[in-house]
Amino acid sequence: MGHCIVQEAEAILDKEFPVLDKGFVRLVDYLGSDERIVQSARVSYGSGTKSFREDKGLINYLLRNDHTSPFEQVIFTFHTKMPVFVARQWVRHRTARINEISGRYSVMKNEFYVPAPEDVAFQSQDNKQGRSDESIPEELRNSVREKLEEEQNRIYENYRSLLDENVARELARVNLPLSLYTEWYWQIDLHNLFHFLKLSMDAHAQKEIRVYAEEMFKIASKVCPVAMDAFENHIQGSVRFSSKELDALNSVLGGGANPLSGKDLERFEAKLRDRRQL
Ligand SMILES: Cc1cc2nc3c(=O)[nH]c(=O)nc-3n(C[C@H](O)[C@H](O)[C@H](O)COP(=O)(O)OP(=O)(O)OC[C@H]3O[C@@H](n4cnc5c(N)ncnc54)[C@H](O)[C@@H]3O)c2cc1C
Repeated sequence: MGHCIVQEAEAILDKEFPVLDKGFVRLVDYLGSDERIVQSARVSYGSGTKSFREDKGLINYLLRNDHTSPFEQVIFTFHTKMPVFVARQWVRHRTARINEISGRYSVMKNEFYVPAPEDVAFQSQDNKQGRSDESIPEELRNSVREKLEEEQNRIYENYRSLLDENVARELARVNLPLSLYTEWYWQIDLHNLFHFLKLSMDAHAQKEIRVYAEEMFKIASKVCPVAMDAFENHIQGSVRFSSKELDALNSVLGGGANPLSGKDLERFEAKLRDRRQL
């Protein structure tokens, strides 16, 4: 009992794991571990940790059956640095506690996100919120990056010149773009981290937030490896089928015809295909 100390997590505390061109994720602190999940789940029976196999079975049982409150007993504090447009998506997760750098108080650094050449892409034709896999000519990749950088430099120079004229920092910063890097402390419990990771690690999430979620998944796996393994199995890797889709699955598995057609059939097949491509 007492503090849960996990050696693998201690070894990475305070280490900055680079993400994108100038960002990072850093685990500032953690409270609890796999052990705390089983301790709290077993509190009603008055018994703590049992064998590793039994604990693993319990953690999987809890997640499979949506008994999520023991996972709220594990808490992470991350320090992350990311572009403002990533933070805008991130902040939609309301169940975390945040403290962000203040552009009213601090002079913002000359740090902007420029996508790597391989990340410059055309608009996707079939997904209005995504990018296409079609290859893009190298000259165009380079010119996109140059245009972004040139504009970022110009905006930052104007920002600096307003500060030099003693304009208030809270006003001088109003034209700074979405590509500017911001940083925050973000504290969340494991149950809500699962929800964040499920959505942000999804193939349909924007790549620039996905890479942060993937790094945080790796970090959380140091703190509570069994729970993160159970998350991969029961949450991240799971697929939700509608009742019509389940009827179709049953029919096909029983050797019958697939009753779905049109868009319903397309969506159903896409779910199975996405899973096969993982
Ligand atoms: C691929 C993708 C595309 C998206 N596109 C858009 C878009 O175009 N426009 C847009 O605006 N958003 C968009 N979003 C954001 C999305 O709509 C959600 O706001 C975001 O994913 C956070 O989800 P959540 O509300 O479940 O999360 P959280 O805020 O983390 O909530 C977790 C759970 O707690 C519950 N909860 C949290 N706070 C409260 C509360 N105060 N009262 C009651 N219940 C609460 C939630 O209902 C949820 O079940 C997109 C998200 C994704 C993943």
